[in-house]
Amino acid sequence: MTGRLAGKVAFITGGASGLGRVGAERFAAEGARVVIADIGDASDALGAIERSGGTAAAVRCDVGNESSVRAAIEFAVQTFGDLHVLYNNAGVMLSADDDPVNTPDDVIQTTLDINVKGVLLACRHAIPHMIETAKKSGETSSIVNVASFVAHLGAATPQIAYTASKGAVLAMTREMAAVYARRGVRANALCPGPVMTPLLAKFLSDDAKRERRLVHIPMGRFGEPQEIVNGALFLASNESSWMTGQSLIIDGGITSAYVTPEGPAWS
Ligand code: NAD
Repeated sequence: MTGRLAGKVAFITGGASGLGRVGAERFAAEGARVVIADIGDASDALGAIERSGGTAAAVRCDVGNESSVRAAIEFAVQTFGDLHVLYNNAGVMLSADDDPVNTPDDVIQTTLDINVKGVLLACRHAIPHMIETAKKSGETSSIVNVASFVAHLGAATPQIAYTASKGAVLAMTREMAAVYARRGVRANALCPGPVMTPLLAKFLSDDAKRERRLVHIPMGRFGEPQEIVNGALFLASNESSWMTGQSLIIDGGITSAYVTPEGPAWS
């Protein structure tokens, strides 16, 4: 198999739908052997990869549950032998997430369990294998942690638990980069702006809500899943071999602008 990830094994959490699914299909098209680990059914994503001639396997996994994560990583290593890429994509944004005064405790807890502890647990069980793979291959292994543009700026449409969780992902990424820099493992964060996946679509169901966000996007439109996955692919591949501890923001200009331009969207 040829491609930018040829010969690599990539473990993708939350790969059954949304950005993770597009990422799983793209990584497989670029030559990776992909393991999709999702709490939901990944058979559609798996079927799509296999029909395109890619190699993949799927395993049920709740990233917030340690025994489930341990079993999923073991499954990946037993199935494909190595572990070059950990793409921590699974994440939730819960509907009762609000400002600090109104967000219920169970929403805070569940969000942190999945979005923060889930990343930590996957790293805990994947990193020893990733170090071994790096020693064998002579190339760095790569952790890609999905944070968000909200780790870099606040919004007056609050989702405080989600925002806290993504800030934590960014902070953990830097620390993991420092800890493993001389052991063959890189760690970078990917910070997408808004993309109309199932996660976001349920919050932006009407035109007024969409317009309220669009006015703050300099390029005047939401992102496309492939535009985010382009960044994930770069971070996962050897193309980013001297990059660790960084945050790659792909957001149509949101985090760079105070006043956005007028006129039609640029696509
Ligand atoms: P999505 O809801 O479309 O897909 C999320 C996937 O994660 C689903 O397949 C779901 O089954 C899985 N999942 C949820 N909980 C899980 C768990 N406990 N264990 C394993 N899998 C679980 O979401 P998306 O928009 O594709 O988001 C993917 C990532 O990108 C998330 O981390 C999200 O926070 C982040 N993100 C998304 C946007 C956006 O606008 N869509 C923007 C910034 C960041």
